[in-house]
Amino acid sequence: MAGRDNTEEKRLYATQLLKACDGNAQTALQELKLAAKTIRESKSYTPQNSEVVVHVENVSKTYKVGKTSVEALKDVTVQVHKGEFVAITGTSGSGKSTLLQLIGGLDKPSTGAITVHSQDLQKLRDGKLSRFRNRTIGFVFQFFYLQPFLRLQTNIEVPAMFARTKRAVRTEKSKETAETVGLADRLRHYPRELSGGQMQRAAIARALQNNPEILLADEPTGNLDHANATAIFDLFKQIRDERGTTVVVVTHDLALAGMADRSIHMSDGAIAS
Ligand code: ADP
Ligand code: MG
Repeated sequence: MAGRDNTEEKRLYATQLLKACDGNAQTALQELKLAAKTIRESKSYTPQNSEVVVHVENVSKTYKVGKTSVEALKDVTVQVHKGEFVAITGTSGSGKSTLLQLIGGLDKPSTGAITVHSQDLQKLRDGKLSRFRNRTIGFVFQFFYLQPFLRLQTNIEVPAMFARTKRAVRTEKSKETAETVGLADRLRHYPRELSGGQMQRAAIARALQNNPEILLADEPTGNLDHANATAIFDLFKQIRDERGTTVVVVTHDLALAGMADRSIHMSDGAIAS
């Protein structure tokens, strides 16, 4: 506790330590140094010093609409580390979705390079790019995109069907991911029987179906109230902690962004901080 006088506690600890070291002050000092080193090292693992899994280097993206062109990204350089939970913030039109789509291989940059898990996305042809998206990336969107005529379990299993996962494995996996997002008892339901928060949880379970390395979410809480939005961000944290998944989430809500490890702020197609 701040300001608490713990002199007595320290004295007691020193006495115990000295006793444990048979009164040898030199040994006690060595023990103390070792303990301090162990504490330092146990604290030194943060996602920020783990391997970089997303490299966005000098990327620009220009959309051509008729005779006009829109510079959506201007020379953007960003790195994301393995297991990091990053929020991309910025006002509408600042380029957040464009950046996320390029990282996920849904579109290509006009110039610059994007490497995701050692894969240079430029070099992937259509089939391999789809495979990369299906296996490496999990996407979550603002409007959920659940199929209304499919039960939740089938909705969750869709990416595994594309990956040609065997039915029994698929079923096991959808139960497991539904459990992760707290919907194990809703698998027989149709999307219309769920609340907005539950639909987004289902979409997250679907995104996890093929054990993606990276979860990309574009304004996933844009349609949810504050309590549900906070719960979804908590869920992202839980997924990162339990599975080591790297999470990149676009949001214009700065309070929610504060729940992430780091925020990347975008302004007018560039990184502002
Ligand atoms: P944000 O997600 O931050 O709102 P976007 O990345 O969607 O921003 O858009 C950045 C800019 O690029 C905006 O000016 C937008 O109008 C433009 N833009 C985005 N997608 C397209 C597109 N497919 N065609 C033309 N312009 C686009
Ligand atoms: Mg957007």
